[in-house]
Amino acid sequence: MREAFILDGTSILPGKQAEIQIQIPNLYTNNPMYCSVFVMHGRKPGPVLLLSGVIHGDEINGVEIIRRVMNIKSLKRLRGTIVAVPVVNVFGFLNKSRYLPDRRDLNRSFPGSEKGSLAGRMANLFLTKIVAKCTHGIDLHTAAVHRDNFPQIRAVIDEPEVYRMAMAFNAPVIINTSIMDGTLRKSATDLGIPVIVYEAGEALRFDEVAIRAGVKGVFSTMRELDMLSKIKLSRKKIEPFVARSSSWVRAPRSGILRSTKTLGLQVEQGDLLGIVSDPAGQFEEEIISPTSGIIIGRTTIPLVNEGEALFHIARFKNSEDVIGHVENFQEEMDPATDVTPTSEPPIF
Ligand SMILES: [Zn+2]
Repeated sequence: MREAFILDGTSILPGKQAEIQIQIPNLYTNNPMYCSVFVMHGRKPGPVLLLSGVIHGDEINGVEIIRRVMNIKSLKRLRGTIVAVPVVNVFGFLNKSRYLPDRRDLNRSFPGSEKGSLAGRMANLFLTKIVAKCTHGIDLHTAAVHRDNFPQIRAVIDEPEVYRMAMAFNAPVIINTSIMDGTLRKSATDLGIPVIVYEAGEALRFDEVAIRAGVKGVFSTMRELDMLSKIKLSRKKIEPFVARSSSWVRAPRSGILRSTKTLGLQVEQGDLLGIVSDPAGQFEEEIISPTSGIIIGRTTIPLVNEGEALFHIARFKNSEDVIGHVENFQEEMDPATDVTPTSEPPIF
């Protein structure tokens, strides 16, 4: 018989699942605090897949993605193990804040240490007790507060296993990004664990399309890793496109923004993205796209200071091809027409 999976001293037998509560630093009210880990240990051997959400405390789409993933019936035939942590940054989640109470960013605090700051201790605990037990990882994020992200995978595609996961996830866009120091992705990579980051939607909001694409992406990746049987897809796959580079267009002056472009839209160099003006419209300044590409991120708050990031544009070898895929994606993920068996009542 296959061996049990052991996490923080709890053993989970093959074919079983368990919630393990890992103790983290107390609240200052002296109440104990825990981080919940949901383990599903398949009867048959296979990869150990980490699903992490809410490393940034206000990025909540990942919680709903993990909830939907863990409740899908085909997981009864799981090969390997799922280690799901819907809320990594419990403190930030309670405060509805990206940061920990020490005002540090958990995703800039890896690998951390036992004797470090609160963020450093949380990072160290998560890395040593949970991440180190896994063979692969999908880290679920959204845009920061007052920003929105078009569903995208961020990955270093030179790494073959990372590339395989990134392609399998089947998001409409892959951004080939170098790994920033202090991130979970960096520390996991140093441990030899391939991790992709899924970015979609806004902070503190559920976004049905982002969630739906996330659930499908996790399942496609699991099928690619042979954790689930491959199924014949009735619809055509959305081939993700790898961006050559991406950059932010910033506010040329402070003022009130009237955005004329939305997420997922193709823009040409010289296109009008929006207009910044003073409240009475005495002074207006057009924001012109400096490049051709697809809008993969944007601000959602129209009150902007000079230099603020407004539109995130990804550049592709051939934007024309990409836009067809983006349109396919939008059609495929539309809750009104999507009738796949995994569908749940959509969140509006
Ligand atoms: Zn994030």
